[in-house]
This record gives sequence, C-alpha cells and structure tokens, in this order.
Amino acid sequence: PVPVLAVVGRPNVGKSTLVNRILGRREAVVQDVPGVTRDRVSYDAEWSGRAFTLVDTGGWDPDARGLAERIAAQAEIAVSLADAVLFVVDAKVGITDADEGVVKILRRAGKPVVLAANKVDDERAEAEAYGLWNLGLGEPFPVSALHGRGSGDLLDAVLAAL
Ligand code: GDP
Ligand code: MG
Repeated sequence: PVPVLAVVGRPNVGKSTLVNRILGRREAVVQDVPGVTRDRVSYDAEWSGRAFTLVDTGGWDPDARGLAERIAAQAEIAVSLADAVLFVVDAKVGITDADEGVVKILRRAGKPVVLAANKVDDERAEAEAYGLWNLGLGEPFPVSALHGRGSGDLLDAVLAAL
C-alpha cells in the first residue's frame, strides 16, 4: 500500500502551494483568500522514486466562529488517516493560537511529523524559522513553497518519516 502524507496547518500558510510544489504541477487551488481548499483532497505524488498519497487539507471559513477549533478538528481527521504529517507554518507570521491547537493534536496522535517553516523566500528570512524549534516537533525545515527554496531537503525528511 502507498503511504499517506497529510498536509495540515491553518489557512494561508501555503499548504496548497507546497502541495503543488511537491506534485510539480498546479492542481491544488491556491488563493489569497484562505479557505478555498475543500476539506481533504488527495493526489498521487512521487519523490526520489517513491510513491505516496498527498492529502491537502482546508475548507475553513475564515470568518467562522471558533476557527481554531475547526482547524484542529480537521487536522485530527486528516492525521488519523495518514501515516505521517507535514505540518506547515508561516515563518513570517510565527506561531498563532490556531497553530498551537494543531500542535496539540499532533502531539496526541504520535505520528511522525515533519515541520515546514514556509515563506522563507530568502536567506535573511531563515532566522525566523529557528524559533520554531520551540514547538518541540523537531527540526524546522525552512522552505519557500512559492520559489522552491529548501523543498528538496524537506522532501527527503518526508520520505524518511513515511
Ligand atoms: P493554504 O490556505 O495554506 O493552502 O495557503 P495557499 O497555498 O493557498 O497560499 C496562501 C497565500 O500564501 C497565497 O497568496 C500564496 O501565494 C502565498 N504563499 C504560499 N507559499 C508562499 C511562500 O513560500 N512565500 C510567499 N511569500 N508566499 C507564499
Ligand atoms: Mg489550501
């Protein structure tokens, strides 16, 4: 069976952009307005000759009440269906309450987690990723889903976790 990687994180951190980067094509819907991704969308992915199923998550109404709880609930479902998790945070923004909610789910689930510190578009921004060691989820991988920076190292870590 092909292993399943769930991509989780709050809206607008760049999950769908990263999914497209991994796929090498534009299939996951990216928008400046968060919340456009349906709850879960699966794609056939491959890296270094290994196949896996990539699950993009989303589908939250950014104006809904209790957004952080909704995000956490979605993450919980996606994580329960996955073999490993790619947790995406926005290194420029840092950790928010909604991120903290997802972190709690990830700790409880006990599945392998790879931490992507996204929107590190240049070397200067890399310092912003170091603070994410504090999450206790291991090494933060600085990436730019938009430009592809760091995605090779991230994917190597993903394969090691799957
Ligand atoms: P999602 O809601 O987590 O799926 O986020 P999206 O992939 O839809 O991206 C949200 C916004 O962040 C879009 O405007 C993207 O172009 C932008 N974005 C995604 N990745 C990066 C990145 O690495 N750098 C920068 N500067 N912007 C990014
Ligand atoms: Mg999305």
